[in-house]
Amino acid sequence: LAYLANLCHDCGSCYYACQYAPPHEFQLNFPKMLADIRLQTYRKYAWPGPLSALFQRNGMTVGLVAAASLALFLWAMFFFIERPVLLAAHPDNAGAFYAVLSHRTMAWTFGIVFLFVVVALAAGLVRFWRDTGEKFGDFFSPEPLTHSVVDALRLRYLAGGGEGCTYPDETPSHARRWFHHLTFYGFMLCFAATCVATIYHYGFRWKAPYALSSLPVLLGTAGGIGLLIGPAGLLWLKAIRDRALSGAKQTGMDVGFLALLLLSSISGLLLLALRESSAMGVLLGIHLAIIMALFVTLPYGKFVHALYRLAALVRFHLERRRIAPQIGTE
Ligand code: SF4
Repeated sequence: LAYLANLCHDCGSCYYACQYAPPHEFQLNFPKMLADIRLQTYRKYAWPGPLSALFQRNGMTVGLVAAASLALFLWAMFFFIERPVLLAAHPDNAGAFYAVLSHRTMAWTFGIVFLFVVVALAAGLVRFWRDTGEKFGDFFSPEPLTHSVVDALRLRYLAGGGEGCTYPDETPSHARRWFHHLTFYGFMLCFAATCVATIYHYGFRWKAPYALSSLPVLLGTAGGIGLLIGPAGLLWLKAIRDRALSGAKQTGMDVGFLALLLLSSISGLLLLALRESSAMGVLLGIHLAIIMALFVTLPYGKFVHALYRLAALVRFHLERRRIAPQIGTE
């Protein structure tokens, strides 16, 4: 069931096709049932175990973490940094960000959290995979893994039979697929921008902020725009989704994650636009606080669906190759 629940992408088609769905007396709501099981699997595989409680009332948890992160960053900045430095306009040259907050402080703070997040996500994935009954090494079988990654990158199954998914209502649409693409690739472009900036810093000793025409800024700007449109579109679809298919717990978790992505993009683009103004110091603190909240909640929120769905797809491709090669994929 954990495998099936994570293979499901909540399109709602089976609900509209099912003769036992409401108003029938059986009241069968298969997508909602799988969504509930999915949430249970997120809790079950979370590492360390006690933090699995964060999946309960997840929307509120994400909101509280974001508020705490904002309060902590702003308090620390106003407490430790002299006001004339924090509130001054800094010329847009190399090292301007570090005049406010040292690179060492940023690197250590985010480096430690990043390591923890990677370990927590990997532990969850291992637990999920172990529960599928597959051997550990089979996850890395080249052909199934490649098929799964390609399917995930294309969001193949959000295309339905070619006409799109029954989301947000019974009429098939590609809207969710395209907004999801913008969100995912926006996220990846921002991640790539950070990686390139790290290479610039340690490899070439070039300090941020970089020129508007530089690779990190171009990647970050393109990613930021994707993270503006994608999450906003997904939030809009969620708001108008068929009420019969949206559960409060699932919605809270989705909205919390999407809101953080949207805020990280808005604060990042504002920081880019106003980086020569006296607002730069405070905006830098706000942006870092939101990114920190996003990082910290990655293993305990909606983000985990990416890993478990990929693993479920790998299992599907293994199964298809092994026992039933005649089964189609649609
Ligand atoms: S039809 Fe859609 S909602 Fe129903 S089980 Fe399949 S993916 Fe999930």
